[in-house]
Amino acid sequence: MRWAIMATLLLTACIPSSDRRPDPAVSGRPPPARETLQCQADLAREGVRFKALADRHFGNGCTALGAVQLLDIGTPVANLGAMTCPLARQLARWAREAMQPAAKAWLGSPVVKVESFGTYSCRPVNGRPGARLSEHGRANAVDVGAFVLADGRRIAVKSGWNGEDRDVRRFLRAVHSAGCRRFGIVLGPDSDAYHRDHLHFDMGQGPYCR
Ligand SMILES: [Zn+2]
Repeated sequence: MRWAIMATLLLTACIPSSDRRPDPAVSGRPPPARETLQCQADLAREGVRFKALADRHFGNGCTALGAVQLLDIGTPVANLGAMTCPLARQLARWAREAMQPAAKAWLGSPVVKVESFGTYSCRPVNGRPGARLSEHGRANAVDVGAFVLADGRRIAVKSGWNGEDRDVRRFLRAVHSAGCRRFGIVLGPDSDAYHRDHLHFDMGQGPYCR
């Protein structure tokens, strides 16, 4: 009897923790973490439409855990894939509380579409081989490249950040600094050449705002 207990303990200790989840055939997939449920409740309360995604492990350390697919945050956003729920929540808040008011204030026209360069991507930081895993590899980052306005103008980070139009420069800096108050790490054209054409927002360890 004692041997049986010992054997069970030893066996359990040898199984990697990721394999100790409830058997999906018995219980369905493991329940989402409490933070994820709280975050999903926040999204619903704030009028965001989304789909909860099953946890994914893609290999090479890349994951999408507690992720959602945003369906409607009030303004259409192109190219959004899986995003961790906290990132999605902050993006929705940033768009509603900061981007739209800044567009009306500086450009006199609301944003009708945000052009993103995407969210999940299994790659090292700045795509450099050997660098640590980018927050994009954890579905924890989003890149925003341009804004289309109701009056037809397209405001691109690349041409606008240091462009001729002072109000465009002010708008882009306003949405950049508003990002710094909502995301862990924000990188724009003043950070390095990799970010000359977009704003990178992620929920990694910050705060870092450049
Ligand atoms: Zn990025």
